[in-house]
Formats: sequence, structure tokens, C-alpha cells
Amino acid sequence: MTTIIDGTKTAQTVRGEVAKAVAQFTQETSVRPGLAVVLVGEDPASHSYVSMKERDCDEVGIVSFDHRLSETTTQDELNALIDMLNADDKVHGILVQMPLPNHLDEEQIIARIAPEKDVDGFHPYNMGCLLRGEPAPRACTPWGVMRLLDEYDIEVAGTHAVVIGRSNIVGKPQALMLLERNATVTICHSRTPDLPAVCREADILVAAVGRPAMVDASYVKEGAVVIDVGINRTEAGTLVGDVDFAAVEARASAITPVPGGVGPMTRAMLMSNTYEACATAQGSA
Ligand code: NAD
Repeated sequence: MTTIIDGTKTAQTVRGEVAKAVAQFTQETSVRPGLAVVLVGEDPASHSYVSMKERDCDEVGIVSFDHRLSETTTQDELNALIDMLNADDKVHGILVQMPLPNHLDEEQIIARIAPEKDVDGFHPYNMGCLLRGEPAPRACTPWGVMRLLDEYDIEVAGTHAVVIGRSNIVGKPQALMLLERNATVTICHSRTPDLPAVCREADILVAAVGRPAMVDASYVKEGAVVIDVGINRTEAGTLVGDVDFAAVEARASAITPVPGGVGPMTRAMLMSNTYEACATAQGSA
């Protein structure tokens, strides 16, 4: 019997835990965690993501500071806003919604955010901490995957985990988080020869590629845990993952659906990271 890993339910559990922690923390310290959300331009998908993050903040008791800037915002103006938010004691987390318009330098902005307020976990310092196995905000999507594995009591230590994808926001941090938990980790990418054969070695297979339904049954060992990070929009407007769910489900011992798997966890872990950043700033984490 294959377990369907329910990210919607687990994300609700995480938000419930954060809400409880925030309420207790605020009662004890009179400090409310604050998240600044910066959105540049008019991209409709980004606007909808930002609105959802603000709703999540409301639900868990985090104050959200909304900064919606015009498409023509300059690098200097955005830098100045980041500097102001870095210096603001009421702001414990800073989220700059990506992608930024082409004329703005995303890497420069990520590196300008104070590492302790980088609740996305993308700052080079925080990625370095992950590499070294030291505490720091962890990237929300792979961190959400780790929480899903824990929630479903899936043993990581001693397993062979294969991650398809080597991006800085998913693949690489995911591989390091699995390594941190004592998996033997293989990272695959667009130049990996005979990808299905490598993936068939996996006890835990994480797909973070961005190619609809690429992972079919030939990639999956009988009984493997299959985690689908992919979010791909079809021409018909529906969402599909990187895994061909119908073809793989019967072979897997556990699998995440799309939608309703990893996706909801990313936002939930952002709330968790923001609370942790606030508690750390107050010296009581
Ligand atoms: P990316 O484009 O930055 O990286 C994709 C990776 O896949 C690259 O490292 C590349 O080497 C590898 N790749 C590409 N084609 C391949 C192939 N044919 N065989 C093997 N590897 C191949 O993408 P990303 O930002 O890491 O995102 C990956 C997917 O995850 C996308 O579908 C994205 O929408 C989704 N995503 C989901 C969430 C979430 O909240 N669930 C968050 C971030 C990204």
C-alpha cells in the first residue's frame, strides 16, 4: 500500500505549531515576529504568491510589512530599502519575491540581506552554514521536504538518497540536508549519463528538475520514497510535477502528489523560519 504524503495537512500542522509558538513568545516578550515582503513589478504569479504569504502571516500571528515597488525601481532604490529593513528592529525576516525584473541583480540583493534576516536561506553565508552543518535559516523548499520525511517517519540515515537537480534554491541544499541527516547522497543533473539507472539506486528519490512527468517507473526502485518538488504549468493551466504520478505510484512506498505535496510546505517553512529568526534575535531560541 503506497503512502500518499499529504503536504497540505503537514503544512497546516506546521502553521499550527508556529502560531502556538508565536503566541507564547509574544506573551512572554511583548515582541511580535515581523516579516517584510518585497515585491517589485507586476508579475501576476508573484502578486498571488505574496498575497498568500501575507495571509499565512495573519494566520500565525506574524506581522507582515508589505513593500510593493514599481517595475521601474532601480538597484540603488532596492538596495536602500534592504538596508532600511536590515536596520529595522521590528523586521526579523526579509523576503524578496523572485524573479526580479531583468534590470535588477538578484544575487546582489540576496547577498545584501542581513544573513540573520534571510528567512529564504539563500544568502551565501547561510548556504555556507548548511555546508558546514551549522545552524542558520535553511532554504524553505528542501527544508519542507525534510519535515515531510520526518512527519511520515521516513528513515533518512543510512539510506541512499538521489536528488535530481542542482539549483541553489532546491537541489544543492536538498542534497546537503539529506547528507546532514546521514544519507548517502548522489546529485544528478542535465549531464548525468543514464539517469534512470542512477535513480533506480535510490531509497529516497527527490525530483527538482522542472520537466513535466519526466520521472517514470523506469527511474524508481520498488519500495522507494519519491518526492516531487517540480511545479510545471501545462498549456491547459493545470499543475503537474516532475514525476509521472500515475506511472510511479504503485512502485513507491510513499510519494508526494502535485499539487498538495511539497508546494504547501515551502510557505509553511517560511513562517517557521521567520519565527525562529525572531526568537534568535531576542536571544531565546
Ligand atoms: P532550475 O531550473 O534552477 O534547476 C533545474 C535543475 O534540473 C538543474 O540543476 C538541471 O541540471 C537539472 N535538469 C534539467 N534538465 C534535466 C534533465 N533532463 N535531466 C536531469 N536533470 C536535469 O530549477 P529549480 O528552481 O531548482 O526548480 C526545479 C523545479 O522545482 C521546478 O519545477 C520549480 O517550479 C520547482 N520548485 C518548486 C518549489 C516548491 O515550492 N514546491 C520551489 C522551488 C522550485
